[in-house]
Amino acid sequence: MAIDRFGRNIHYLRISLTDHCNLRCVYCMAEDMTFQPNADLMQDDEILFFTRLFAGFGFDKIRLTGGEPTVRANVVELVRGIASTEGVRSVSMTTNGLLLKKLAQPLAAAGLQRVNVSIDTLNPEKFKRLTRWGKLEDVWEGILAAEKARLAPIKINAVAVKGYNEEDMVDLAALTIERPWQVRFIEMMPFASATDLQVNQVVTMAQIRQHIESEFGKLEVSNEGRLDGEAQVFHIRGAKGNVGFISSVTHPFCADCTRARLTSDGKLRLCLLREKEVDLLTPLRAGASFEELRRLILNGIWDKPWGHGLAEGFIPLNRAMSEIGG
Ligand code: SAM
Ligand code: SF4
Repeated sequence: MAIDRFGRNIHYLRISLTDHCNLRCVYCMAEDMTFQPNADLMQDDEILFFTRLFAGFGFDKIRLTGGEPTVRANVVELVRGIASTEGVRSVSMTTNGLLLKKLAQPLAAAGLQRVNVSIDTLNPEKFKRLTRWGKLEDVWEGILAAEKARLAPIKINAVAVKGYNEEDMVDLAALTIERPWQVRFIEMMPFASATDLQVNQVVTMAQIRQHIESEFGKLEVSNEGRLDGEAQVFHIRGAKGNVGFISSVTHPFCADCTRARLTSDGKLRLCLLREKEVDLLTPLRAGASFEELRRLILNGIWDKPWGHGLAEGFIPLNRAMSEIGG
């Protein structure tokens, strides 16, 4: 078991398969973002080795993310290897959905259990402006393919950005009325790369909730008020699905955090919003023993920061969100 010094059992690993992406969402990266060379990223055998190592400490829940995980060559085989690792109970993915039309079925057959698909508006023009060139229709087809492949329950991630899509949250919430999906609203967080926009164009959860409730009436509590992952969940009266609020900025959920992240270049990141990292890939490539790597991981987890420092004005600037794995 991997326990931190605050007694939290850390058993959920988010692995960034690549920092590369086929979109350039304005709140995530600059249009001229440069990516790391493939040789500096974890190779397939290195990802599988780390998965085995972490699973040995009780990490039973894995989420694959990025960058865009589906642009990684060989992603289906990688998922198969991760899903069949002893001790791994759940494998899910966060994706922009562009390639799901083609990949949903093979990924499900390889052992992927669920997907979260990011879609911030149902307006094709606004979608293009937010992602810089994305076609909404492709993502929609991807979501339907995921549903057909039973990558359920479908979860939709939406980030609201002032001046881009704040009023579109109402249409996204409306998707849950007829569909058993969870639409999750994520408060924008600041990192390197698009920091000005991330700081100045935040829409708070309270504002989003107000928009939704002014259309559909007061939201009702779901999941008996317990968090679902990091989301507080509610539903519109009579809806088949529910809406989630991930208010990392205004209401942090650090006390309940069970996560660690493996960046695409093989660093153990202890908190999304703290710069502290432990390099695992360099020692692995230098021939470190199993025991040495074990120590590095357990000591790193033990020192996991309590929580982020956004309220005190601390912004992690050593990486863009896409490099860490959101
Ligand atoms: N490319 C995939 C996608 O977009 O779903 C996976 C990686 S992306 C970094 C993971 C999630 O982080 C997405 O839902 C995205 O909307 C969200 N995200 C990106 N930048 C963010 C930011 N600055 N604040 C909050 N969420 C952000
Ligand atoms: Fe790419 Fe996801 Fe970042 Fe958008 S949010 S640029 S899809 S990594």
